[in-house]
This record gives sequence, C-alpha cells and structure tokens, in this order.
Amino acid sequence: MILLSYESYHSQMTRMHVPWILIGIEAVAWVMGNVLGLVLASLGLVVIYLASVRVHPRVRHRACGGTGEHRGAVFSWTHRKCPRCNGGRLVRWGAGQWGAEHARNEYRRTKEARATARSNGTWR
Ligand SMILES: [Zn+2]
Repeated sequence: MILLSYESYHSQMTRMHVPWILIGIEAVAWVMGNVLGLVLASLGLVVIYLASVRVHPRVRHRACGGTGEHRGAVFSWTHRKCPRCNGGRLVRWGAGQWGAEHARNEYRRTKEARATARSNGTWR
C-alpha cells in the first residue's frame, strides 16, 4: 500500500471529492429558509399590526401635543381649535384603512368634516 503525502491527498480531495452540488443545494436551501423566515416574520408583524389597529385605533395629534389647541403668540392664554384633529385626538391612519368599521367611518367622517371646515374658514 502506497501512502500518499498529505499534500497530494488533500489536493485530490479538494479537486475531486468536494460535493459542490450538495453545497450549492444547501446554500440555496439556507437562503430559501432565510427568505421563508423573513416572509413568516413579516406576516407575523402584519397580523400584530392589524390586531393593534383594532385594539388601539386612536392616537394623540402630535402637532398640538394632544391638546387640540393652537396657542396665540401674543395673548398666550388664548387659543384656536387645532385644524388637523378633533380636540387633540385622531383615529390613526391604519385604523382608517384596516380598522373596525366604526373606526373607518369615523376616520372618513372627521377627515371630511375638517376639510369642509377648513375650506369654509369655520374651523377656528
Ligand atoms: Zn391637533
């Protein structure tokens, strides 16, 4: 029996016996697994978001700090109504799209009412 040196044995192994196809399949499966994982994670986030939109359909209006007031600069104890919310509260955008029916209706109704009031100049 002839013993090959490590170098020639090693070079023969790497040249002939490395299962590139299997490694390729494994690599593809790994990437697919990651893509699948990503898809499943995204799907989970969508489900959580839709549940959240049902359970917590409202937000404070950030521009007025949820006060619904726009303070006067000179007579600082005075204010006018914030034109972009209803008393500092809003139905959040997602709830207006995918929320419960009453939240969607309220979102649409209040949005139209604010737009009408702004165009009529009656929002103050
Ligand atoms: Zn506001």
